[in-house]
Amino acid sequence: MKYDPELQIAIEAVKKACSLCVSVQSSLVSDETMIKKDKSPVTVADFGVQAVICHELKKAFPNDPIVAEEDSADLQTKEGKALSQKVFEYACAVLPELKEEEIHSTIDSGDYDGGPEGRFWTLDPIDGTKGFLRGQQYAIALALIENGEVVLGVLGCPNLPRDLEYPESNKGCIFSAVKGEGSSVQLFGEETENKITVSDIDHPTDAPFCESVESGHSSHSDSEQIAQILGVTAEPIRIDSQCKYAVLARGDASIYLRLPTSKDYVEKIWDHAAGCIIVKEAGGRVTDVMGEDLDFSLGRTLSNNKGVVGTNRELHDLVISAVMEVLNSE
Ligand code: AMP
Ligand code: MG
Repeated sequence: MKYDPELQIAIEAVKKACSLCVSVQSSLVSDETMIKKDKSPVTVADFGVQAVICHELKKAFPNDPIVAEEDSADLQTKEGKALSQKVFEYACAVLPELKEEEIHSTIDSGDYDGGPEGRFWTLDPIDGTKGFLRGQQYAIALALIENGEVVLGVLGCPNLPRDLEYPESNKGCIFSAVKGEGSSVQLFGEETENKITVSDIDHPTDAPFCESVESGHSSHSDSEQIAQILGVTAEPIRIDSQCKYAVLARGDASIYLRLPTSKDYVEKIWDHAAGCIIVKEAGGRVTDVMGEDLDFSLGRTLSNNKGVVGTNRELHDLVISAVMEVLNSE
């Protein structure tokens, strides 16, 4: 199949990154972390994941540029030295061939500007940093974009329960999708891959929706009004990161709302590319709040779009009209 080598490399790189995150979370994140607003654990994991994944992509596909969220500037200062050493320690534990002197340049290989031509990867090393610090949901999000279109996506979700109804069930899922080939999930510690599909709910009253935990990232008051118009009765499923796309893709939720909280915020491509193809290939639809496709051809941001609406496809037109009704009344 087309993109088989890319898919294999991407999944293996994301698995290594997941191990790194699990190890940082178990050794550096404590109850005190959130209380003290100490962001250092997520910083170690963020840089570590970017180093590991960029290294693996550059080794396999030396000509592919990468658009990634982080750069090494903070690690190159005097104050950043200890942090840099810690990043190396955790990264090296999952990728022993990594050399300390290469860490900064490897992280900075993610500085590509993106655009409409050719192919490039996009990476959010840790999406949902607040979820990571709370010990809740976060994701490692990697996607391949070709001529402005997402053609492959992998989402590593180390804390996502296999079944949302049983939060204490085994955790850890890797979702992947290739254009035209559907979406799959692999559970941590298992070799088998299973296809996933969106829900077939065709009436919004039965449709659970998901949204950000952070009301600063997506307006909770607008979603409440939209739910009322649609007659949605279930409580919103609030989770951090692109895990929202994953739960929509496997049918735990039927609607994902990301409703703009300010006129100025522009969404970043790494926050949506992987999740978007995983939902679409599972049979769902993803647009902005106006019902327009997300445009990944414009550089590092989705500058032509506002917010995100994802659904199981059946419900899309209904949801968009409720969203427009609420946003236009403001
Ligand atoms: P979530 O976990 O879905 O709430 O989203 C986390 C992502 O929200 C981060 O990766 C940020 O890039 C992004 N973000 C930061 N500020 C905003 C904002 N004002 N509106 C929407 N997304 C934001
Ligand atoms: Mg992010």
